[in-house]
Amino acid sequence: DVRHGPILYLEDVSVSFDGFKAINNLNLTIDDGELRCIIGPNGAGKTTMMDIITGKTRPDTGSVWFGSRHNLLALSEPDIASLGIGRKFQKPTVFEALTVFENLELAMATDKRILPTLTAVMTAEYRERIDEVLALIGLTGLRDRPAGILSHGQKQWLEIGMLLMQKPRLLLVDEPVAGMTEQEMERTAELLTGLAGQQSVVVVEHDMGFVRSIARTVTVLHQGSVLAEGSMDEVANDPDVIRVYLGE
Ligand code: ADP
Repeated sequence: DVRHGPILYLEDVSVSFDGFKAINNLNLTIDDGELRCIIGPNGAGKTTMMDIITGKTRPDTGSVWFGSRHNLLALSEPDIASLGIGRKFQKPTVFEALTVFENLELAMATDKRILPTLTAVMTAEYRERIDEVLALIGLTGLRDRPAGILSHGQKQWLEIGMLLMQKPRLLLVDEPVAGMTEQEMERTAELLTGLAGQQSVVVVEHDMGFVRSIARTVTVLHQGSVLAEGSMDEVANDPDVIRVYLGE
């Protein structure tokens, strides 16, 4: 494990919707280069937590830090993204009529630091980055095919690749293996574990087999706060976790 201290730090974060505490004194630290899985029953606050990190939802209280310098609560959603926080939603949203290569090319343009010089950026450096990402996501052989012909799993990898184009420091990934075949799940495990170390990856996932296959540390959310944290075996044997998952 490559660990370089915390990259993301949530302290005493709470948010209510119409008086209902969706996030309740949440404390979470993600280390640089770490791959963390977040699990928890429906309504535990996983989506809201991701929304808070990306600036989509603002907490009522608490603080959210990225690296040692960036108070995310003081930044807009696009500015948070520009710091290198990428989010992958559950459903793939690739441009089906464009080729795999063109999708990756386009992904660079969403970085507003690059947009003004887009016509100039198709330099060797960027083509190299596309080739690198194609290799990472295992789609080199399909680079000139329309994204519409890809399997569900391949579309998910392409979308992860689109996020990787901008070399994010932190990737937030929502249920990456939902709807995937066993083989696609194995390939996704390799992809995500391979990415960790280069960047931090936070994965929200329901599939426990998959979580077990990738996670070193698992955080269990329940009623908006951390119920348990540790290795998969530690949390799976935690009486509180068993109670929550099997019902009270
Ligand atoms: P999870 O992703 O773990 O299933 P969520 O973060 O989606 O949990 O939801 C946590 C709780 O907050 C749920 O009870 C949900 O109904 C509620 N909630 C989330 N977003 C809103 C919102 N915008 N308005 C009202 N309630 C919300």
